[in-house]
Order: sequence, then structure tokens, then C-alpha cells
Amino acid sequence: MKRSEFIQLFFNSIFLYSFKYHEKLEYNIDKEILIGKGKPNLVGNGYKLLSEVSKAYLKMKDAAKIDNINLKIVSSYRSFNHQKKIWNRKFSNFTNSGLSGQKAINKIIEYSTVPGSSRHHWGTEIDIIENNHNIKGDVLLPKLFHDSGPFEKMRVWMEENSEKYGFYKVYTNDKFRKGFLYEPWHYSYKKISIPYYKNYLKIDLLEILKEEKDLLGKKYLNKFFMKKYIDENIKGISKKLK
Ligand SMILES: [Zn+2]
Repeated sequence: MKRSEFIQLFFNSIFLYSFKYHEKLEYNIDKEILIGKGKPNLVGNGYKLLSEVSKAYLKMKDAAKIDNINLKIVSSYRSFNHQKKIWNRKFSNFTNSGLSGQKAINKIIEYSTVPGSSRHHWGTEIDIIENNHNIKGDVLLPKLFHDSGPFEKMRVWMEENSEKYGFYKVYTNDKFRKGFLYEPWHYSYKKISIPYYKNYLKIDLLEILKEEKDLLGKKYLNKFFMKKYIDENIKGISKKLK
């Protein structure tokens, strides 16, 4: 190898190394994993979670069963593309029913996330109900978890016991919390989701969304919107999960 070639190779290696170093974030959590575009190792029967999260969930499920509560996960891991489908469906429905694009987006982000920003991308989150009830239609409504609703007993059990198994409520019923509305069904496995959350905050979501050609309402997701969305929705979680 010529000396000039060697020098070239040397600098290329440094460049590649520093590029890789910047792509990998702290705790070795890959950026693609954090935004739902990676390939995490998921397990579960009827749900998809990281192995450690699944184990903790099954322990909690067994404990609940002793108290006659039959826990059931209705939503767990969700990919970027799955979240994009939810987003596009809601955007179409809301704009078809007469809302402006901006208003449609504000309505979507009462409960649903911009693709790439769902905590469900991480394999650490569960939406949970009780299996004993035959409810038709949408099961994730706060009223079903309160006021003698079918999931009230389960909600109270979760509030008293879930933290022993590592699961914490994310979108609490706290009037000072901003962002997504109260979700009595959504729990997070704290030990893993905290490092994921901290790494997630370093990501420039707007850059990622720019690449998406079939994302409806994209023109409204500008710098101004995204800043408010990150500050209020992404950071608007239980203090116990920060
Ligand atoms: Zn959820």
C-alpha cells in the first residue's frame, strides 16, 4: 500500500468510527429502535414486548389472578409504520368530517402520537384492560375505568400493585400535566423506559419525518409545532418516569 493510500484509509476509518459513535446513543440504544424502525427482540403470547418486560408482566398477571383480576394486554409494541397507519386513518377521518388540518392534528394528539414518537415503539409499554368483560367497540375509554365501570376494580388493583412489578402509569390524572389526555390503561416498564426516554430526547424527529412521503398533514408538523409537541406531549408524563 502506498503511503498516500494508507493515510486515506486511516482518515476514512476515523470518519467512519466517529459517524458510528454519533449514531449510537448512550446505553447503546439504537436510534432506529427508539423511533420504531429497528428490529427489537420481542416475545409474548398475544402481545409483543422486550423479554424482561414480558417476564415482569407475567409475574404481575399471576399476582392479579390470585385477586381474581384477569389482566389482558390490548396494545404493546407498535412499529413506526403501524403508528403511521393510525395517524393517517385519524387524519383522514377528522378532515373528512370537516376539521381543518391543524385542528385534526390537535384532535389526534389528544390520545395518539406522531409516528416515530410513540412510547409503544420501545417494547416497554402496555395498554391493559380486564379480560372478564365483553365490551363492544372501543375499550380504551376513561369512563370504563371509573364510576363503577367494568375496569374500575382492575384500575384500583393496578394503582395499588403495578409498581411492585416495575410498571408505572404514564399519562396520569394530574391537572398540571400537559400533553396527552389521562390514560388509566397505559403502563410503562420503568427500568428500561427511563433510559429509552432520555435517549429519545436527543433525537431530531422533524428530520426523520421529512423523509416520510406518505404522512398526512406533514406540512403542519413544522419546527414550531414539534417544539411544543415535545415539550408538552413527549415530556408530559408522570414524574416517576423521568
Ligand atoms: Zn398506550
